[in-house]
Amino acid sequence: MHCFNHQDTPAVGICQSCGKALCMECLAQVYNGLACKDSCEDRVILMNRIMDANAQMVTATKAQMKAFEILEFFIGMVFFALAYYAFKIMGWPAGLVLGVTGFLAIFHVIFRQQKKARFPDLE
Ligand SMILES: [Zn+2]
Ligand SMILES: [Zn+2]
Repeated sequence: MHCFNHQDTPAVGICQSCGKALCMECLAQVYNGLACKDSCEDRVILMNRIMDANAQMVTATKAQMKAFEILEFFIGMVFFALAYYAFKIMGWPAGLVLGVTGFLAIFHVIFRQQKKARFPDLE
């Protein structure tokens, strides 16, 4: 393959924006990528910045989901504790309602974990 601009010079890389093969002289190395010197540089920088930002956002969302799951699990435990006291103080109907609420919260976390184990890409 030869350079798009210089037919007799071998190409050393491909522009990330327009896909043209380019020689050492025409190629610019920018922010994690290759671009046509002077014409595609800005676009490639922008593209790579956007991709980086997306990757960071996905990581942040995953971390938030994990924090939320821990919180939900904790809330479930609190409801179980409340259910115990409600059962002693107010009788079994109050204890049952709180106990079921706690159970549902914990069940939801476990259900999500199992779904994640089966479909890891779905996250
Ligand atoms: Zn280009
Ligand atoms: Zn060239």
